[in-house]
Amino acid sequence: MVLSVVKYGDPVLRQRGAPIAKLDDALRRLVADMFDTMYSAKGIGLAAQQVGQAVQLAVLDLRGVKDRPSQLWLQGHPADVDAFMPLVLINPVIRPVGDAHEGPEGCLSFPEIYGEIVRPSEVEVSALNERGESFEFRAGGLLSRAIQHEVDHLNGLLFIDRMSTSVRNEVRDEVDQLQAETKKSLGRSRR
Ligand code: ZN
Repeated sequence: MVLSVVKYGDPVLRQRGAPIAKLDDALRRLVADMFDTMYSAKGIGLAAQQVGQAVQLAVLDLRGVKDRPSQLWLQGHPADVDAFMPLVLINPVIRPVGDAHEGPEGCLSFPEIYGEIVRPSEVEVSALNERGESFEFRAGGLLSRAIQHEVDHLNGLLFIDRMSTSVRNEVRDEVDQLQAETKKSLGRSRR
């Protein structure tokens, strides 16, 4: 089921996600709905906060991206990124490694807003999958960037927080307008 994507201005995007303690049918349904929602919105990653749930769950699928490379290492060996998709991260813990790199980012909660963001180029990840099994890997390139973006969401952080002052100033008006529209529509739906 496609859920509606929460836009900037909704307070749930600022909530830190609670760790997931039980992998039950409700969680499996949420994972399936998040994939439906992400594919429908043509996104490559989605955090639970973006569908209104402050829990430690994100989904990713980079198979549609051909122009920005990703790297993956499993037990220290290079592995096929496409074969690793779709990717479910439950209670992920990341450790950034490698040099900082600048790259463009967008976010489904900020339609039409893009900016250059500096992030470490690689990241070591440990998480649970949807069967509750723990797994570890190292990611580079776009996969690393996308995972860091989603894990930020799980901690209530947004890509605008990571923008340099000059990039933030470039998108300030659009972001302020989006926030005002979201707050207005939240006010209407509460009435
Ligand atoms: Zn996002």
